Amino acid sequence: MALENNRYRVGGDGVSLRFRKSVRIGKLARINMSKSGIGGSVGVPGFRIGMGADGKVRRTVGIPGTGMYDVKVVASPKKKEAGPGRTCQSCGRQVGQKDRFCRHCGARLTP
Ligand SMILES: [Zn+2]
Repeated sequence: MALENNRYRVGGDGVSLRFRKSVRIGKLARINMSKSGIGGSVGVPGFRIGMGADGKVRRTVGIPGTGMYDVKVVASPKKKEAGPGRTCQSCGRQVGQKDRFCRHCGARLTP
């Protein structure tokens, strides 16, 4: 019974483990690994710029020690769904960004 208590409980009743790891490269660069992917950043205390696992490039400006900082996304990856068209989930063909129904198969499109 004592051994059981020392085991990690994954999922189920509240205890979940999140995979997140940060590796420093030299003094200024850092690579972040998380469940959603790998990102990297470079910077000094008070200023940091990096790419997240979502592909967005953020710059962070702050005052070290105060917890005050400002994050701004300066570049985003071009996603298919953010382009001029979307893909119908039923037939997989291109549909208009604001179409409510697929013009090919007539399926209702989720926004
Ligand atoms: Zn369709």
